[in-house]
Amino acid sequence: MYFRDVVGQDELKRQLIEAANRGFVPHAQMFVESGGAGAFPIALAYARYLNCTDRRPTDSCGRCPSCHKYDELAHPDLFFVFPMAKRERKKMICDDYMPEWRAFLSISPYFSFDGWTNHIEVGNTQPIIYSQESEEITRKLSYRIYESEYRILLIWMPEKMHLTCANKLLKLVEEPSENTLIFMVTDEPDTILGTILSRVQRINVRAIAAPELAEALVRIERLDPESARDVARMAEGNYLKAKELISVSDEHAFFLEQFREIMRNAWARNIKGMKTQSEKLAQIGRERQKNFLAYCQRLMRENFIYRFNAPELNYMNRQEADFAAKFSPHIYEHNVLAISEELTKAEVHIAQNVNAKMVFFDMALRITMLIRK
Ligand SMILES: [Zn+2]
Repeated sequence: MYFRDVVGQDELKRQLIEAANRGFVPHAQMFVESGGAGAFPIALAYARYLNCTDRRPTDSCGRCPSCHKYDELAHPDLFFVFPMAKRERKKMICDDYMPEWRAFLSISPYFSFDGWTNHIEVGNTQPIIYSQESEEITRKLSYRIYESEYRILLIWMPEKMHLTCANKLLKLVEEPSENTLIFMVTDEPDTILGTILSRVQRINVRAIAAPELAEALVRIERLDPESARDVARMAEGNYLKAKELISVSDEHAFFLEQFREIMRNAWARNIKGMKTQSEKLAQIGRERQKNFLAYCQRLMRENFIYRFNAPELNYMNRQEADFAAKFSPHIYEHNVLAISEELTKAEVHIAQNVNAKMVFFDMALRITMLIRK
């Protein structure tokens, strides 16, 4: 992880680099974000930069022995602490999970707690940082520093710490040992001990600016520029959300086509078409049916808002917006709620396992009555 791999955040990178080169690095820093903004990648890129022996003006060199060890996430002066779920009695410290952790980070430095939980396949067990980790931390920090200017303890999600461990961390923050840096990364600062919070320097990692996120989606995710702009706007500066939107976009294309068909059939009073479509929707499975109806609800709302000519309130992609240009004049105060109620009713019936073919056919008929009122 280099600074150049961090999406956007140029101002923050500049500040961190300046602090590193002035030799003025607070010993305990907390990188706070609201999710998907890159707090973890930034903290890791910063750690690399601080330990690089040939720092460049904007990034680590990538060639020194320290950089090579960072490539493998195996630097002797870099320690990770993260939540995990013990699978065997003996395995309850982070070191036991390093192979999984390294493999996980190599997929993408942008990740979520759910992503990690799935990766380590712990099912319903909630990963935490166990009390045993505090002894590990003490042990690691009692060694001499191997080869670097700094020894860095990078703690992901300190809010998941067992209290014993949190108290140990508090002690470390209160009585720093020389050249030891503690970086914490969190998106829930309010759940961390106040005594810790008040003693660390807080670094707010803001949502990624939309143009920078769009640029990254073209470069990394291979989106076309137009879709990238749409996704970036909808993702609200959250890289993880953007990736999620991309992965569901195929499904949404299908949903949009179905939504259009319902409305076309309704407008044309095409009963045969309604019957054929309800048979098709009955085949897609209950979960997808529910997702589809939720999608329809969203699109109804978007089409209603579209009429007010307030693009900043609209969250639609290009295809949805093209459709809204033609469809939205038919959605107004007198039918928007009634159609929405029909969708809700269908959702309830699907959840209750009512025959899906009947549910969708009935819904299409009622929408027909509402749309041309
Ligand atoms: Zn280097």
